[in-house]
Amino acid sequence: MSVLSSLVSALGDGSIEVVDLTSPLSAETPVIQLPPEFGQTAHFALEEISRYDDRGPAWYWNNFRSGEHTGTHFDAPNHWVTGQGKADIASVPAGHLIAPVVVLDFSAQAGEDADFLLEVDHIKAWESEHQALPAGGWLFYRTGWDARSSSQEEYVNADESGPHTPGMSAECARWVAEEAPVIGVGVETVGTDAGAAHSFEPAFPCHSYLMGNDKYGLTQLQNLAQVPPTGAVVIAGPLPIVTGSGAPARVLALVER
Ligand code: MN
Repeated sequence: MSVLSSLVSALGDGSIEVVDLTSPLSAETPVIQLPPEFGQTAHFALEEISRYDDRGPAWYWNNFRSGEHTGTHFDAPNHWVTGQGKADIASVPAGHLIAPVVVLDFSAQAGEDADFLLEVDHIKAWESEHQALPAGGWLFYRTGWDARSSSQEEYVNADESGPHTPGMSAECARWVAEEAPVIGVGVETVGTDAGAAHSFEPAFPCHSYLMGNDKYGLTQLQNLAQVPPTGAVVIAGPLPIVTGSGAPARVLALVER
């Protein structure tokens, strides 16, 4: 049997399960909130064109408004100033949209401390227990934050000192971007950076280092608990917005059962 026939057969008999890692898109989908002096991303919004009525008797359809970085989405290298002139979202090679993934579960630590930061030593310890980070694949960082994704307030978790959500230290972000063989980082939070990363050095180190090294981000993922630490494959399908800095994406994991 050809490899693709085997895949189709495994999908059919359930020995490979498709896990949807995408947050549903609606007006309630949480979005990042920047300090008021900066431009803000749009919430997702539907605008009805017709619904089997005078405007279109046999059909229902909508226009929609959305930020490129609203809901589960893919950060392209040109999103950050460090990746200025690098690939836009339409130029990300199609071959990068299907890739192996490892899932590092730090949901216990992030549950105890909303400002928990992943360090290089955490990743190295994980690698000695499991396997090396996959060349050409994704590092998905599980924090349990998907459980908060139905509430803007709980998801962003801000107080007078700013948002409190887990992320990576600046040194860890630098190491992942410059030394690890992965193509990008996927997270359950509103962005790849920690809530407090505005005051890190450099500020927003995940964005700064990943984009500057032609790497990618995937955010607002769900259901990572259903993906094993190693062995899964991710299909990430951002809209090919020409010149765009990112796009909402349907993200699926193929998991062997
Ligand atoms: Mn983004």
